[in-house]
Amino acid sequence: MLNRDLLYKAVENFNIEIDARAYERLDIFAEMLVETNRSFNLTAITQPDEVTVKHFADCLSLFGFADIPKNSKIIDVGTGAGFPGLVLKLARPDIDMTFLDGTGKKLGFISGVLEAAGEKGTILHKRAEEAARLPEYRERYDFATARAVAAMPALCEYCLPFVKKGGSFIAMKSAQGDEELALAGGAVSLLGGRTDKVFDFELTGGLPRKIIIIKKISQTPTKYPRASAQISKKPLK
Ligand code: SAM
Repeated sequence: MLNRDLLYKAVENFNIEIDARAYERLDIFAEMLVETNRSFNLTAITQPDEVTVKHFADCLSLFGFADIPKNSKIIDVGTGAGFPGLVLKLARPDIDMTFLDGTGKKLGFISGVLEAAGEKGTILHKRAEEAARLPEYRERYDFATARAVAAMPALCEYCLPFVKKGGSFIAMKSAQGDEELALAGGAVSLLGGRTDKVFDFELTGGLPRKIIIIKKISQTPTKYPRASAQISKKPLK
């Protein structure tokens, strides 16, 4: 299903290494994504080259820009059908991955792919702002990741509370990331973060992408995250 040549090229561009078994696991995911999508809407992207570049190469790019030590504990916030969390987990099974989404429907699909690929992960059917208030999830992760979930000010409030001091929140954005980041400066520091690195690059075909890495430098004050309505109506400034 995946276009191996396109995937190899992307992996080479990002200067990362992925073994043959990882490609097989990613292929199982891609096959199941397109097959399941026939009866249950998981993605608007179904053509093999597009799936390879816009979903798989896009998510793998994270390894090219962020250093993820072995056995890192990561929470993928608003994972949907598993992007980027399931791609990262299947490429690097040493990662301890939690898949969080407020909508339960696609989480069953992720469980099915993990099982078919012989891997394990934690499935968390909760809204981020609710889970992040619970002690078992708050400031427990080395990294939080998110792709296509919300604009940066709200996204920081969803994600930074999960990250341990010394860890990072990694946001995967397209071209509009610049304006969002400019608006999120206040939110980042109120939540205990500091913008560490911003990488601009292109996927095959010239698609602009941005990876924003926010370091957690102090604990998030207990009043955050606020309730959903406040986060969306009054984004932190
Ligand atoms: N990250 C995936 C991707 O890149 O394909 C899914 C993106 S989809 C557009 C956004 C997902 O974020 C949805 O599955 C939605 O249920 C989830 N989501 C949005 N806000 C959320 C929140 N506050 N807590 C948990 N999940 C949330």
